Parts: sequence; structure tokens; C-alpha cells
Amino acid sequence: MQEKQELLSLTREELEALLVSLGEPRFRAKQIFTQLHRGLSPEEMTNVGKVTRERLAEVTSYHLPQVRRKLVSAIDGTVKYLFELSDGQSVESVLMRYEHGVTICISSQVGCAMGCKFCASTIGGRVRNLTPAELLGQVIAAARDSGERIGGIVMMGIGEPLDNFDNVVKFLTLVNHPEGVNIGYRHISLSTCGLVDKIDELAKLQLPITLSISLHAADDETRTAIMPINKRWNVAALMEACRRYYQATGRRISFEYTLIAGKNDAPEAAKRLALLLNRSLRTRTDTMPIHVNLIPVNEVEETGFRRADKRSISRFAAVLEENGIRATVRRRLGADINASCGQLRRAEMQGENG
Ligand code: SAH
Repeated sequence: MQEKQELLSLTREELEALLVSLGEPRFRAKQIFTQLHRGLSPEEMTNVGKVTRERLAEVTSYHLPQVRRKLVSAIDGTVKYLFELSDGQSVESVLMRYEHGVTICISSQVGCAMGCKFCASTIGGRVRNLTPAELLGQVIAAARDSGERIGGIVMMGIGEPLDNFDNVVKFLTLVNHPEGVNIGYRHISLSTCGLVDKIDELAKLQLPITLSISLHAADDETRTAIMPINKRWNVAALMEACRRYYQATGRRISFEYTLIAGKNDAPEAAKRLALLLNRSLRTRTDTMPIHVNLIPVNEVEETGFRRADKRSISRFAAVLEENGIRATVRRRLGADINASCGQLRRAEMQGENG
């Protein structure tokens, strides 16, 4: 038997073609697409006839991620979801409240193959990619559960989005659709540890999303020690890709830099970082705006890495600013609920294993 298509993975055009092939009028597509993306299951669509719903159910499957656990921060209202997928696997999403609105951080894979030494998500390796339906499903399920209007998305949860390229790109077009969730590309950020070939592919698509690069070190020795991907594409190759991306899209790139005590938090490291960014991305005529997000490392028991202390963090930021690089220290949302991604799924897995 042929596997059923996931209803939530279908583009607006694919849904319309399917409905027409089932003998339905074209206008149904808009109606069903909009309701699906608002979080209604086919059974809940009372304005769609029973026969249509039955026909759809014969050829498609429908599953919204189910809330397995939900933690709400008493400090700032951040909500962390552990979502269960149709095969029993789980991923995390985090709903964050900012002054300008609600943003969701979503996962792109079950686990991760990248092996960054400080990261909880990669400890058990990559289990599988998320489908477009599961990527979108996190946004829809969180909106439905919270009753919030979600205005922005960051792909900074579990997984490496560019290691799941086709599904992620399809998801971006789905979530951007005006008849669906309708989140503007400018309100979507995608974070990568630096898959250079895929950065080039993404540039070709000319989507006006924000690309974030997880840099974490400006020299190869330090970066290779904490991020295995650096052996495949080193710092110079990554910066070249950033340059090409900026030239092709005109979109500024932001950088993430996780501060780990004694590893990459010295003032000299800040100086090296500023030098690298200025030299590789700026020319005399083009002073591309560069922004670095400094993230004090979240301590994960297995990794043994420690957070840099307050003083070295502000000194690091000051050195960047002195050298023309804008830097902000990421505010820690949901500190009381362990809101950084990967840790809740990890805790659940350990719980299950005894
Ligand atoms: N794979 C993508 C996106 C997921 S990780 C990437 O690497 O960018 C999102 C961000 O959190 C990355 O910058 C990642 O390096 C960082 N991160 C992972 N574990 C962390 C930890 N324990 N403390 C602080 N930041 C961490």
C-alpha cells in the first residue's frame, strides 16, 4: 500500500490539485487550507461535507504534535513544550514573549548529527528528520494550545535545519502562506552550525529570512575542538560562504557566540572575532551591519562546560563594540524551566532509561 501523504505537508497548490482529483470544487482548497493551518483537524471542519472529509482521510494522514509536557516560566511567561510526534518520538518548542510579540523556537530534527560538544540535543545522535507537517505542526499546535498569535519563528531548537534542507524550505513556504499562518519571512530566523554547501543553496532561493551563524570561535583550533563541522568547512570557508550569501541576498547575517569559561571568552578571543568579521565581511565601500549574539553557555551536565562569568561576558561585549561590532548578551528566558532546547527531551529519555 502506498503511504498516505501528510495533509499538513501539502502546499496550497498540492492541496487544490488533490481536492480537484477527488472531484471537489476548487474553492474548497482555500477553505480547508486555512482551517488546517488554524489548527482544526479535518473532523472539526463542520463546514466541509462528510464525504469530502472521508475521501481526504482515505488518501492523506493528519497528525498534530501532541503536548506531552508543558512548562511555564513563573519569571517571564516563557512556555516550553515537549511535543510527541505520530511515531512516539518527541521534540521541543519554546514560546517566548517579547515586547514586540510572541516568537516560537522550533526543532528541525529528532536529535542532531552535528556533535557540538556543548549541546544537549546531539548527545544521542540524529534519529530522523522532521517532515514539513511536523515543522509546521509545532507552530500550529503551540498557537492552538496557548491561544496566542505567533508573530515570529526562530529555527534554533533541536537539530540542524540545513541538514533537513528540503523539508525546511517547504515548511518556510507553508508557514509564510497568506491563507495560512502567514508569518513574514522577515520574522523568521534560521540558525546553522555552518553547512557551507547548503548556505549557498539557500542563498539561491532568495528568501528574505535572517540567517544566523553559530560561530562560537574565530580560530580553527578552538572551533574544531568544540564543533566537529569545522573539520569539514573551516572558519575561512564559512566566512566566504557568509560573504557570498550577503552578496546574493543583500540580507545581513547575525552571529551566535556561546561563551564558555576558559575556552573562548578571553578579551583576545573577542579581538580575534572582531578582526575576523571585519576583514571577511566588510570592505571600504560596504560596511555590512554585523550583529553578534552572545549566549552564556547553558551548562549541560554531560559536557562539563561552565558559563563564563558576568565580568568576562561584559568585557567580551565591550571589546567587540570597540571594534565596530554590535553585540548583545542574550537575555535568558525561562531560566526556571530549563528552557534551552534539547534538555527536556534529554531528561525524558534518561527518565525512561531508568
Ligand atoms: N543546529 C543549529 C540550530 C540549533 S542550536 C545551529 O547550530 O545553529 C541553536 C543555538 O544554540 C546554536 O547557536 C547552538 O550552538 C546553541 N547552543 C547549543 N547548545 C548550547 C548550550 N548548551 N548553551 C548555549 N548555547 C547552546
